[in-house]
Amino acid sequence: MSGDMNTMSNETTKEVVSRRGFIGMGSAALAAAGMLSAEAGAQEQTEKPYPKKGDKSASAPGPGNREIDEQNPDSFLPPQTDAGGVQTFKYPFGISHKRMQEGGWSREVTIRELAVSKSIAGVDMRLTAGGVRELHWHTAAEWSIMLYGNARITGLDADGKSFVDDVSEGDLWYFPTGIPHSIQGLGPDGCEFLLVFDDGNFSEYETVLLTDWMAHTPREVLAKNFGVSEQAMGKMVRREKFIFQAPVPGPLTTDQKSTAGSLGLSPVDFSFRTGKMPPTKKTKGGEVKIIDSSKFKISTTIAAAIVTVHPGGIRELHWHPNADEWQYYMAGQGRMTVFATGGRARTMDFQAGDVGYIQKTLPHYVENTGATDLKFLEMFKSASYQDLALSEWLAHTPAELVMAHLGIDKATYDAIPKSETVVMPE
Ligand code: MN
Ligand code: MN
Repeated sequence: MSGDMNTMSNETTKEVVSRRGFIGMGSAALAAAGMLSAEAGAQEQTEKPYPKKGDKSASAPGPGNREIDEQNPDSFLPPQTDAGGVQTFKYPFGISHKRMQEGGWSREVTIRELAVSKSIAGVDMRLTAGGVRELHWHTAAEWSIMLYGNARITGLDADGKSFVDDVSEGDLWYFPTGIPHSIQGLGPDGCEFLLVFDDGNFSEYETVLLTDWMAHTPREVLAKNFGVSEQAMGKMVRREKFIFQAPVPGPLTTDQKSTAGSLGLSPVDFSFRTGKMPPTKKTKGGEVKIIDSSKFKISTTIAAAIVTVHPGGIRELHWHPNADEWQYYMAGQGRMTVFATGGRARTMDFQAGDVGYIQKTLPHYVENTGATDLKFLEMFKSASYQDLALSEWLAHTPAELVMAHLGIDKATYDAIPKSETVVMPE
């Protein structure tokens, strides 16, 4: 809709009042004088003059960062529908601190970086071929997706049985609270992966590390515990390693055989191959794979959706009744508006490597604003994935009731998709 008064189409009003008089009088006075129909009045209220790109009042002659402005057009010049204060829901991994070590690096986005992200924290980690994220566990559960390359993961189930597996791009793993595990980069070029924890307050730097534990236990106690001499403990590590370089491990079957022992390997599958799974829903606009504990049994506290939106497509207007949503953008670019109730709404732009967050039940959409596929993760602290779409809500509500609310005609109502599409167009 245009903000220009000249486009006002109410001919009667134009006849009665000159343009100057019309502007001078204001809509309230016009309505009171009976010169403005109810419809024209409603239209006039929404058509405030609003700066557009190129207008003087939209310009920003002071200090700024052109690259950031260009990547965030909906912050530089917000849509007119944005209003009020909405807590910031974007944080790029690109500006989080990177902890560098020989063998790889780690960076995290937690509640300390992104204040709204109370229920989930994320870690982006790179390991070289042979690089090890050392043996450890933590109080949060860990879900992960391999973003690049190959790794070997090890774990021990609650019955003390061993798990060793190799994972590649697109594969997932999940380690419950307190279950010890490790990750090691394989050839040819190690790996990079995203870790997702079911606690926004989590920190990857405050986990139970094997080396840290040993470094803080008296040597004579270690000797007694292992049934060896104190001398044998002489070269025991004296500080934590976290990430370190080691030789690339041998064949998977060798490691599986050597760790099985008399108990045998764990019957629990801590990994999941998304590549072997067909899309849960596929439309002209894109596709989604939903992976929760109904598919990936061990993942009882984290549910995921892997969403692809083609250029011009949109992850439809929807909300999640059961949990906050933590997002990670994997490819392309898009924008999202979060409607935060009480007339408040904010639109932010996202690129690969960004984290997004939506509080439980708040409506949102994600639109592909680029020329390539937009791919992102929707993550929830929940055993099951749940969402409701605006279209399915309206389609399953009496037509007359919906039309009375929205001012749309029957043909428009009938055109609304009858069931959840997930990614439009259908
Ligand atoms: Mn871990
Ligand atoms: Mn969502």
